[in-house]
Amino acid sequence: MTRSFPHAVGRDLTDAPQRREVIVVGGGQAGLAIGYFLSQQGHDFAILEAADAPAAAWRGRWESLRLFTPARYSSLPGAPFPGDPDRYPTRDDVAAYLSDYARRFELPVEFASRVRSIRKTNATYTVELDDRIHQADQVVVATGPFQVPFVPPIAERLDPEVVQLHSAAYQAPRDIPEGSVLVVGGGNTGFQIAEELSASHEVHLSIGSRQTPLPQRIFGRDLFWYLEATGLIRKTTASRIGRRMAGRDTLIGSLPRTLRRRYGVRLHGRTVDATGRTVSFDDGETLDVGAVIWATGFRVDHSWIDVSVFDRTGRVVHQRGVTESPGLYFLGLSWLHTRGSALIGWVKDDAEYLARQIATFQRTASRETRAPEQVR
Ligand SMILES: Cc1cc2nc3c(=O)[nH]c(=O)nc-3n(C[C@H](O)[C@H](O)[C@H](O)COP(=O)(O)OP(=O)(O)OC[C@H]3O[C@@H](n4cnc5c(N)ncnc54)[C@H](O)[C@@H]3O)c2cc1C
Repeated sequence: MTRSFPHAVGRDLTDAPQRREVIVVGGGQAGLAIGYFLSQQGHDFAILEAADAPAAAWRGRWESLRLFTPARYSSLPGAPFPGDPDRYPTRDDVAAYLSDYARRFELPVEFASRVRSIRKTNATYTVELDDRIHQADQVVVATGPFQVPFVPPIAERLDPEVVQLHSAAYQAPRDIPEGSVLVVGGGNTGFQIAEELSASHEVHLSIGSRQTPLPQRIFGRDLFWYLEATGLIRKTTASRIGRRMAGRDTLIGSLPRTLRRRYGVRLHGRTVDATGRTVSFDDGETLDVGAVIWATGFRVDHSWIDVSVFDRTGRVVHQRGVTESPGLYFLGLSWLHTRGSALIGWVKDDAEYLARQIATFQRTASRETRAPEQVR
């Protein structure tokens, strides 16, 4: 993997901008997947990654995390996920796979390269970092579906002695002081963390809205086998069923009843308020807590992109990742196109689609720049 630039600390933007055909922002699975196709097409491109090592998002997740997609459905284009295809890879397996992937296909990832802004002047995108500027004909934003940890404002009303962390910062039960802990959030993350902590702590789980539970395995086959076989995983947001699926979160392989009976986790309703050490729920119950883990999701932040492709709420307006600003694309967002858009095993579909758009655009752009010479 290349590390083409020094980790300059200061801001020295006096050097001439680096010119590329394509810049990819973000070197997670989405950035690598499109990098694979861009490399095959022979583009001059770079992948700019804020972290100083590969697979930053996966490395930051909790230690015992296992994928809900089996290895068979966790591959990027051109390289099957190693090992038994029916196993559920760990966080570290994914990090190793992504690191090997970038190395194997010699993808031009530049680490410690956080992009601070993207602007457009005429037909050129200016991509500004702390220490340098790139210019490109086309830019792919692949900065992830889960970016800024969201904690509800009521968290501020809890006593400073209550240990609080977002699930993004949770690593292992040793992070949580002895005694009772409240996990807030009834999604996959909340359920998995509650289950893990139940071996060592008195665990309470606050479920705001019940998600549709789906079994991980049905008649010996993984859930994703059925989603693939029925074509549901590729239903788009343009279809009625796709829209219905997009509006409903699913809980894979967990059931509130099992969590309560087998793991002794105490279930509560939505967390609505907090004061001191006491948390209140929407059914009027209260609970005194020593620690709270906010498994309350993430927000997307594209405020650093200074190109008018967003609606009034800040959401990017696009058709399968293609924006109205020619040459600017988004990849890897939840439901960019299908349920698979933000999953490791299916992001390749959108990546391949965008790579085709990029190739067409580049051909047209180079024809246009050649045209005056031909006239002469
Ligand atoms: C707890 C959890 C469990 C999951 N389990 C599964 C699973 O089992 N199976 C599955 O298929 N999916 C799973 N996912 C969903 C999805 O696969 C992951 O979220 C995945 O990390 C998304 O990949 P990505 O490349 O789109 O984004 P990320 O992995 O978030 O990568 C984005 C990259 O962009 C970089 N970046 C951000 N901003 C900038 C910037 N301004 N400049 C430069 N770089 C920047 C970040 O450092 C990061 O490395 C899970 C997600 C979560 C949160």
